[in-house]
Parts: sequence; C-alpha cells; structure tokens
Amino acid sequence: MARHIKCGKLFTGLDRGAEEQQTLVIDGEIIKFVGPSAEAPKPAPNDEVIDHSGHFVLPGLIDMHVHLSYGNAKTEEDIDLYASLEFRALRGLEAAQRVLAAGFTTIADPTTSGRVSLAIRDAIDAGLFVGPRISSSGRQITNRQGLSDWYPSWIGVPETSIGVLCRDASEGIAEIRLEVKDGVDFIKIAIDGDSMNPSSDVLVAGYDQDEISAMVKEAHRLGKKVVVHARGAEGVLYSARAKADIIFHAAWMGDEGLEAVIENGCALCPTLSLVVNDIDFTRPGDGCFPDFPDAHKRELEAACISLPKAREAGVKFMLGSDSGFAVTPYGEWHARELEHYVNYLGFSPAEALKCATVNNGEFVREAGQVGLLEAGRLADILVIDGDPLADISVLQDRSRIREIIQGGDTVEVEINKNARRLRSEFSYELWSDIYTQERIKEIGLVSGLAQRAAE
Ligand SMILES: [Zn+2]
Repeated sequence: MARHIKCGKLFTGLDRGAEEQQTLVIDGEIIKFVGPSAEAPKPAPNDEVIDHSGHFVLPGLIDMHVHLSYGNAKTEEDIDLYASLEFRALRGLEAAQRVLAAGFTTIADPTTSGRVSLAIRDAIDAGLFVGPRISSSGRQITNRQGLSDWYPSWIGVPETSIGVLCRDASEGIAEIRLEVKDGVDFIKIAIDGDSMNPSSDVLVAGYDQDEISAMVKEAHRLGKKVVVHARGAEGVLYSARAKADIIFHAAWMGDEGLEAVIENGCALCPTLSLVVNDIDFTRPGDGCFPDFPDAHKRELEAACISLPKAREAGVKFMLGSDSGFAVTPYGEWHARELEHYVNYLGFSPAEALKCATVNNGEFVREAGQVGLLEAGRLADILVIDGDPLADISVLQDRSRIREIIQGGDTVEVEINKNARRLRSEFSYELWSDIYTQERIKEIGLVSGLAQRAAE
C-alpha cells in the first residue's frame, strides 16, 4: 500500500523554492515520486490518499546540535555530576521524543556523557522506542584551555563528564580509537572554551596546529568526520587547516580563519540559540546574570560581523540549537535557530531551511537519504499549517504541525505531561545570596524579623 500526499505547497530542498500542485508518493519507507500532481501515478485501490492541499510540506527538520544527556541543565555540574549515566540515558530518550515531536526527524549529538546518546540511538534503531534518527559523538576531546577542564585542578575532570581531558595528540588519538571502537558516528573536539572562558583570559587554542591536525587525520583514517568547537580566531584557524568537517560557533573567526575555512571546505555551524536565548531569557536572580548574557552579547556582535562574510563567500552552513540547557530545553526552541539565521546572519528563509534540511542531511549517518524530498530517499516529512518561506517563525509553533512522517510512517509520540524533575538531577546549591546583617537590612528583612519576634 502506497501513500499519496497532496501538497498545498512543497519545499523539496532542491533549488526551486516552494511549488504548488505537487504530489508525493511513498512506498514503504522510501519516496517513490515527487512532482506535479498531474504527472503523479494514479493511486491503486488499496493506496492511501492524504490531503495536505491546505498545508506546507517540507523535509523532516534536522538539528545538528542536541545534547541528549544534559537534561535541560541549569549548571555545568548538572551536566557532568548529577544523575547516574543510566538515568541520563532514560531521561535522554524522553528528550529525544520531545525533539521529534517538534518536527525534527533527525538529530546529531555532538558530546554526550559515557555512551548515553549512543545507547539512545541504538534503542531507537532497535525499534524499542519511537525517536529521531540520531548520529552521536562520544565525550568531547579537550585540553586545559578547552571546554571541559573548568574543574579545579585538584579535582580533575571526572569520568562522568561530557569531556575527556587529552593533554596532547597521542592521548587524543588513543581516545579517538576508543570512541570509534565504542561505535560513535563522529568525533567531537573542543579546541577552545566559551565566551566567559574561565580557564584563560583570551580564547586561545588548547592544541597547537600539529596536535589538532594529527587528531583530525586519525579520525578521518578511521572513517569518522570531525566536529570542532572553536569560538576564537586561533581555534577556527587551526581547525580549518586541520580539515575539520564542521566548525561550531566561530564567532571570532578572523579573515585568515575564513580563508582557511574556504580553502579546506569546512562547514560552519554557528549555533546562535544558546547565545541569543541566554541574552533574551536570563534574568536577575539567575546565577550567571549579568556576566554570561553580557559575554554572549559580545559574541553575538562578533558573529554578526564574521559569519555573514562566510555566508557571502559561499561557505556551507549547517544548523543546530545546542539544546539541553535550561535556556534551550528539548522540543522548545530548535526551529528558532532558523529565525536567527534570517535575523542576524542575512539568510533568506529558504536558505535557512536548506541549512536545516539539505546541508545537515549531508553530515549525519543517513547522508544521501535524508534532508531532501526526492525519489529514492527516506520519507521523512514535516507538514505544517503556514508558510515558513513567508514567516520562518511558524516552524516554532508546534500547534501548526499537522503531520510528522518518519520512514514513511506517521509519527505518533505522546509526550507525558506529568514528567517532572527529581532533586537528584541538580547540583546542590543551597542559597544564591549571603545573608550578612547588612544584606538582611538591605533587602528589608529586618522589620519582618522584628515582627515575628514580637508575636
Ligand atoms: Zn554544544
């Protein structure tokens, strides 16, 4: 039994924008026909005809940057220390379902703790649970000046951290070989730190050119692509020269870095969501206010200068949301990244959509099978009420989703509204203030105390 879908508007991902009067025919998990309804094969008596003539049909969206193991973390400690790896896997599976329900039929997870996201991937592959198609790295490889070495030196990076400290190329290569043995889909290296950069005053690269080149070369020799986290000029330059496949962030990429990106055919995946959501959502009372939003304002400013240059130079952009933090919770803001591409980087809605479908589809495990609606590919399809080419933000409105099809089947995933967070998932912060006599006076508690004493 084939499924014939009549599309109001169809965005295939090919360079034709949205077309009207189109029909998609799916047989099993594969697309058999895409084209004008007048040329479509006639439905056989048993075939199902689905009328989406009032809707917009596009490829299932792909998010390149979802951290399933983080658990909507409020602190770095939440990510690394709280909740067992086993609990993180079960929690991450539910998170994956939330992402799927938001219209993202495929994701990549660049950094997980233990083998959490690999286990979620395998459980979905095995048909045990509904979920998005997942490509995952292992723990991220990093050095003293990189992302995951923010612990005091007298503590060190714990085993349950999302990062693994590799102090030179030979340690990095040993870790790459282990991760490949354990079944990762790609390798993640954090060559530098974040906007606040607690381990250094400037965003220096944690590996020199020879070290990063040797690690990328080994990953490629073993058949794995490499994603590098690089915010600073040096990190981007070294990563590009090392021929990393994708560079995440890249806000402070200089002209030399951009040249190397172009010359070596690297793709960029800026991931503005964490930055912009932090600026937009963080409030006084949040532990990182105002330092982190302020740092992110500087990063966004830099990104708005460096990244449009890369876009104009024809660099390939991928798209991801960095979901898994408290400001980027699962299933909520993934499609907002497309709006950021339009608002901040000068992309047209169609170009942003191509990043989230065609371009992302070239990186994941199912490369060549997803991200584009054409005959022979997997039938991963999103149907919405609205026109994202007129208003890209409609993709964020889950009430507009009319159907999600994955591998030819309509996705039925029920998000449990009673899901709640356990105290044991969070770091053990007791108070956010220090209550000296002066502070108690300042916040006006003194009169209240006096009143209670009088009672
Ligand atoms: Zn990330």
